Amino acid sequence: MSELDLPPRSHGELPPEGAASGFGRPGTADVLDFADQAAADKKAAHEINKLSKRLHRQVGQAITDFNMIEDGDKVMVCLSGGKDSYAMLDILLNLQQRAPIKFSLVAVNLDQKQPGFPAEVLPNYLRSRGVDFHIETQDTYAIVKRLIPEGKTTCSLCSRLRRGILYRVAGELGATKIALGHHRDDMVTTLFLNMFFGSRLKGMPPKLVSDDGRNVVIRPLAYVKEPDLVRWAEHREFPIIPCNLCGSQENLQRVQVKAMINEWEKRYPGRIDNIFTAMGNIVTSHMMDKKLYPFETARATGVPEAGGDIAFDEDEGCATPSPAAVITLQR
Ligand code: SF4
Repeated sequence: MSELDLPPRSHGELPPEGAASGFGRPGTADVLDFADQAAADKKAAHEINKLSKRLHRQVGQAITDFNMIEDGDKVMVCLSGGKDSYAMLDILLNLQQRAPIKFSLVAVNLDQKQPGFPAEVLPNYLRSRGVDFHIETQDTYAIVKRLIPEGKTTCSLCSRLRRGILYRVAGELGATKIALGHHRDDMVTTLFLNMFFGSRLKGMPPKLVSDDGRNVVIRPLAYVKEPDLVRWAEHREFPIIPCNLCGSQENLQRVQVKAMINEWEKRYPGRIDNIFTAMGNIVTSHMMDKKLYPFETARATGVPEAGGDIAFDEDEGCATPSPAAVITLQR
């Protein structure tokens, strides 16, 4: 038997004596290989265990912090077939078992009739997980193709149609919450998109009433980092459905902003987290929105104010130049 023929091993399990070489007792090199492999397997299992705990903790925390799910809720989990929505459903199913409150889940997928959409993949997966589900079939692809001239981006009409359908389905199913699979990186990307192209300081909320006023939209993955979702999807082997079946390009501006923040993160690790934390830590008196702070009526009171103006703000993180910088400046 060659090494390639060996049956798969579980983590930490040592192979039978002589299995590697196929001839009698294993040599020293074989024993070392197996020891290395066992150590690597153990480390991988440990990492996955940590990832699982982190994901469940972060989703549970977001749900609690924003009171996303309440006792008796029926949560409609929107499933696109991408890694994020699979992970959201997976984690919510686990949390449902341990939660101190009772809530139900119903998975919903919108089959938009895109060419090549593998219609059986999601139902098969959902049946295998024992989840209640509903597949809504609406040929939005044909509508979009008919109304949008060739070469123009179709995403904005497509998303509008999808939103309207999902809101309607939520009502028909009696869902009290609509859960979407946006994560921390989506929320930060949206903040910059709105700043760069909409001149607004506006992100993506973890929980908000929908624009038709009839639904409450929640984002249980709000605290989750995208790279963790990529690893979880690989580990859980979700049957991912590609998202480019419609042939449309992903929004180019979103792609560029995402590349920008990922590049920052590479150069300055922790930057995305800092931006994300800042989204929940807004000092309205230090912005310029007259709707949020009464600048016109600001008067000196003679009483020191902790959040008052300090005349010359120090830029946090660069207040004190490093010795190296001082030396460079003095040259
Ligand atoms: S990529 Fe295709 S399916 Fe997705 S929003 Fe755009 S047009 Fe719709």
